[in-house]
Amino acid sequence: MSGHYHHHRAHDLHSSEPRGRLIIRPLPRLRSRRAFLGDLGGGALALAVLTPVAIAACSDGESGEGSDAATPTPARSEEETTSTVATAESGDGDESAASDSVAEETSDLRWARANLGFVSAYVVARGNRAAVIDTGTAGSAETIGQSLGDLGLNYNDVESVILTHNHGDHIGSIGDVLTMAVNATAFAGEADLGGIDGDITGLVGGEDVFGMEMVATPGHTPGSMSAIDHGSGLLIAGDALIIAAGRAAEPPAEFTADAEGARDSIRALAALTFNTLLVGHGDPIESAADESVAALAASF
Ligand SMILES: [Zn+2]
Repeated sequence: MSGHYHHHRAHDLHSSEPRGRLIIRPLPRLRSRRAFLGDLGGGALALAVLTPVAIAACSDGESGEGSDAATPTPARSEEETTSTVATAESGDGDESAASDSVAEETSDLRWARANLGFVSAYVVARGNRAAVIDTGTAGSAETIGQSLGDLGLNYNDVESVILTHNHGDHIGSIGDVLTMAVNATAFAGEADLGGIDGDITGLVGGEDVFGMEMVATPGHTPGSMSAIDHGSGLLIAGDALIIAAGRAAEPPAEFTADAEGARDSIRALAALTFNTLLVGHGDPIESAADESVAALAASF
């Protein structure tokens, strides 16, 4: 997948509009809500991969929707949609009891991926509160809004926006997102603030934002931040890691400010305990993700 991870493609992608027309697709909302609500409150990790909101994925993103493309691969046509909703902590709940409980306060964290093509942003939620992690390239706010919708929420419910670092494919829609998320406070690593417009609160690591611990993971950029939800075992690492072929991997050196620092940060992440790993580039690892990161760190 040579084109899968290239920051310089950001401009190409957001200057081409086919992507935009793909993001508006009716969602099976009832099904999706029940899929996650039914899982609230249990033990094992459960996932509901939902019908797509999204966009043609990745490298040849300009060719358009998977099923309409001239030569869709089997993977593309199955995976053409890319909105994923999951409960980070879940179990065998009673689905029928769940339908009206969306506003109920709960500590359970659930998440949705806004797959923006070659980069992803994420939404996490607890009850009727949400946080947005990264904002994609310019023009991504609507797709992120769809991911909020997948969780039964909208921009008014967003109380935090966390930027993992200041690269354009992660901060490109921060202005639009903050315009819509009128109740939100935005955060990013202190050392990355210089590259981000707007009213952003600096982080140095160790803070609690939306019940998640902020972990300084410098290297890819000086101010790179990761977020871990200890309760549900969810790590969001931005570009401190990528995921390739189902495994954690180093971010490409050509886009990484300090490769040795980035390795130190990967070592630090490898010392944490988590089950699910979400990154900017690559599909989530949803089971025993810490083992994959530990294996990577051990390979240095
Ligand atoms: Zn980056």
